[in-house]
Order: sequence, then C-alpha cells, then structure tokens
Amino acid sequence: MTNILVTGGAGYIGSHACKALKAAGYNPVTYDNLITGWRDAVRFGPFEQGDLGDRARLDEVFAQYRPAAVMHFAALSQVGEAMAQPGRYWRGNVCESLTLIEAAVAADCLDFVFSSTCATYGEHDNVVLDENTPQLPLNAYGASKRAIEDMLRDFEAAHGLRHVIFRYFNVAGADPEAEVGEFHRPETHLVPLMLDAIDGKRDALTVFGTDYDTPDGTCIRDYVHVCDLVDAHVLGLKWLEQGKGSRVFNLGTGSGFSVREVIDHSRAVTNREVPFVTGPRRAGDCTKLVSGSSRAETELGWKPVRSDLKQMIADAWRWHRSGHYDR
Ligand code: UDP
Repeated sequence: MTNILVTGGAGYIGSHACKALKAAGYNPVTYDNLITGWRDAVRFGPFEQGDLGDRARLDEVFAQYRPAAVMHFAALSQVGEAMAQPGRYWRGNVCESLTLIEAAVAADCLDFVFSSTCATYGEHDNVVLDENTPQLPLNAYGASKRAIEDMLRDFEAAHGLRHVIFRYFNVAGADPEAEVGEFHRPETHLVPLMLDAIDGKRDALTVFGTDYDTPDGTCIRDYVHVCDLVDAHVLGLKWLEQGKGSRVFNLGTGSGFSVREVIDHSRAVTNREVPFVTGPRRAGDCTKLVSGSSRAETELGWKPVRSDLKQMIADAWRWHRSGHYDR
C-alpha cells in the first residue's frame, strides 16, 4: 500500500482525510503532536506522535514510511486567536511548515497537498473570489497560509516540490457514519457552537456582528461538507500522481449563507430552538467569503455531494449526539 504522511491526521479535517485515503486504497500515516488533535480520531492507519518543528523526528518518520506524498493539515486556524497572537501563527504555521517542507524535500518526497484558506483573499467588494483573485488577508491566519503557499512555489522552483493547494471555504459537517467528526477545545466555529447551544451544553451562541453590508446584516460564508472536501484531496493526490503539476483550487460550493440563515437551517434540522444573542463584530472577520470558481469541478472532476447546508448540519448533529463527541 502507498503511504501518505498526513500531518494533523488526529484533527477534524485530517481524520476525515485519513478515512477517505484508506477507502481509496492508501495507508494514511498520521503525524500529530496531539495538542489540538485526538488520539482516538486516528482510526484508519498508523500514528506517529511528533511536532512539525522537530526535524529529527520528521526525518525518522520519512525514513520509516517512505511516503509517496504529504498532506499537510496541521495548523492553527482561529481568526480571533490570530488577531490577538500573530506570533503564534507566524511561528506555528509558517516556521513549522518550513521544517516539514525541508524534511519532505530531503526525503525526496516531492508531492505535497496543502490546506490553505479563503482567508488569504481578504475583503473584496463585489468581486468573484476565484483562484486569481489578489490575496490580501485581513488576519495573521490568512497571512500565514499565504506565506506557506509562497514557500511551496519557491521550493518547487528550486527543488521540484510539486504541490496542490486547496483554499478552503468554511468546512462543516461530519462523517455520516459518525466515526469521526468536529471537536475542538476550545471550540470557536459557528456550527459546533450552535449545536452545543441547542443541546444545552453551553450558553447561547453569540452572533458576531449584525451591521455588515449583507441582506440581514450578518456575515456570509460558503459552507462545504468535510467529506466532500477530503474527497477533493484524494483527487488532488491522483492529480499529482498523474504528473499534472502544481495547481491551486478553491474548495467551496459557490452558495453563501449568512449566520442568521445557518441558525434558521439548524432550527429546521434539529427541530429545536437555537438560543442566541447578538454581539459586536469579531476582529478579523470578512463580510462575505463565497467561492466564485468551479475549477475543482472542471479540472479535478470534483463533485460535492453532501454540501447542502441542511445535510451538513444533519451530519454534524448526528456526530454531536453520538457517544464519540463527548470526550
Ligand atoms: N460566528 C458567530 N459566532 C460564533 C462563531 C462564529 O457569529 O460564535 C460567525 C463568524 O463571525 C463568521 C461565521 O460565523 O461570520 C463563521 O465563523 P467560523 O469561526 O465558523 O469560521 P471562519 O469564517 O472564521 O473560518
């Protein structure tokens, strides 16, 4: 079986990627320090504990498994935290990714799939966000991901590191079989916070800002199901295997939903009231982030099949109510 090194394989998206890789006939080797990941989310292949910045440990793991490719999910990813502690993002995302990339090149592992973000685009009025939109991030999270994209381009020019960059829009939902799902501590993301509030596991959701220039005043995001998202990664891996070269793909559906609309859909799916209060804007948030690109569909042959908003919330709710959620 072909080994794929999955950094962050014990996290939300990484664990779903491991499941998809295994189903596609690969052996996903999780490399994770378990600071934000969970050992019991590693269910589909071997586990190697280590820090991204630990070059000696990385060299050991590359030598042991000789992976054909790296999928790099491990990252800090909270906008609020990035605004308050930018240094953590530059060090934790950029410096540590540099160590990983250098280790991959040294091990002659030259196919690399990278999790980037629509937060690299920043605020653009009435502009369709496609892969050629200028990247003007509003926060250190987006800026750190943009820097890693630049790093990959430099390493390709110098060392032949072929890469597929995926710029995610808002990832939601969970494995329909509820083997893995979303679980962050602390949690900062809209859908799990809302489900916690519905379930009485925490106080009311705070809606961050009601004075944005959108029809109902709340921010608009493009939500994509985590299972569809990781399917794109398997296609990205095959793209590299086929020698198609480095490419950037947005991963979103092209449909935007406001925070209020997400609340309305959640009420309909769970048949419960959504306790919420309104609050001020969260620093670093863009008004609207919606993908305007179908490149992943036309070039990769990606077809999102579970990214209907109600489906995503229903899958997240099933996971939320499963025994696995309460760690
Ligand atoms: N949001 C909110 N209350 C929360 C968490 C998020 O109103 O407690 C809003 C946030 O302002 C953004 C959207 O929900 O407009 C999605 O935020 P999330 O943190 O899930 O993802 P992000 O867009 O930051 O990647």
